[in-house]
Amino acid sequence: MFMIEGVCDWCKQPSLLTPHQYLDGKVYCSCKDCYEFACMDVRLYNQEEEAAQFRTRPKFSAQPTPA
Ligand SMILES: [Zn+2]
Repeated sequence: MFMIEGVCDWCKQPSLLTPHQYLDGKVYCSCKDCYEFACMDVRLYNQEEEAAQFRTRPKFSAQPTPA
């Protein structure tokens, strides 16, 4: 799981990392210490992204809805 050697994107410490994928395609890596926080962070971000996409969607579609 923590297979990537690098610098943690949360605490900026060199460690073994695991990747987290954001909804917009960005991948950040967290160490074991930051894992739970990172999961929460990514989940919240993705929820906000989804909500933002929903908000920016036009209320009435120009396309007729398929029956
Ligand atoms: Zn960390």
